[in-house]
Amino acid sequence: MVSFVGAGPGHIDLITVKGRKLLEEADMVIYAGSLVSEEHLKFCKDSCQIYNSASMTLEEIVDKMEEAVKEGLRVVRLHTGDPTIYGAIQEQMDLLEKRGINYEVIPGVSSFTAASSAIKREFTLPDVSQTVILTRIEGRTKVPEEEDLELLAKHQASMALFLSVKYMDRVVEKLKKGFGREDVPVAVVYKATWEDEKIIRGTLRDIKEKVEEEGIIKTAIILVGDFIKGEYERSKLYDPSYSHEYREARR
Ligand code: SAH
Repeated sequence: MVSFVGAGPGHIDLITVKGRKLLEEADMVIYAGSLVSEEHLKFCKDSCQIYNSASMTLEEIVDKMEEAVKEGLRVVRLHTGDPTIYGAIQEQMDLLEKRGINYEVIPGVSSFTAASSAIKREFTLPDVSQTVILTRIEGRTKVPEEEDLELLAKHQASMALFLSVKYMDRVVEKLKKGFGREDVPVAVVYKATWEDEKIIRGTLRDIKEKVEEEGIIKTAIILVGDFIKGEYERSKLYDPSYSHEYREARR
């Protein structure tokens, strides 16, 4: 069995209990070395074989998994954040499927929620936005035309941008056009939950310069939207005049 496990955004205690148990029991771990903290590996058995996938190709990774599973070993494929978001796990799963190898996926804390937690804001505020858009700007990987950042920004929803901080120029330009104004709050969270986490706050007007000054070109989430700052309406859930399944209205 191969278990794709979300390692969480950085801090080693942000892996799930299930993920940690699988790491402790694993006979082989293949981890995404560019973003997964090596500290996770200290929970592995001494006999556990450990590979860093950073220098491996898809075929090499899947070959390793296949060899191990054929020997009856338990394999953990450790990905950063949640494996189902920009994890490139589909192609691994499809190859495993073709080769008749069993696998499962264990979710993780994604860096986009680690980022909103770092700035202590809620993505979904009543009458501000009830929608979170997870996206990225086009880099070497194409983004479908219909999902162009400018078009998405027109919705004025809460946004979290992955893999985009290197292209702040284009990001800000498209967001300004989409939102139709420059005072939209932005927070760039670098290495959320790591010891060297940094939070840079601003608006579409000044965030590019601020990020450049800090020299941040990778491992950051760009949060955009009015959820970051400002007024909102109270929730109905805890409103005393509102009753629901678990509570009668109070007068
Ligand atoms: N599966 C991961 C995302 C992998 S793509 C997840 O769910 O978080 C890699 C991108 O994720 C980085 O370019 C960056 O945008 C973001 N990222 C990963 N870890 C991060 C962290 N600790 N803080 C901020 N951004 C992070």
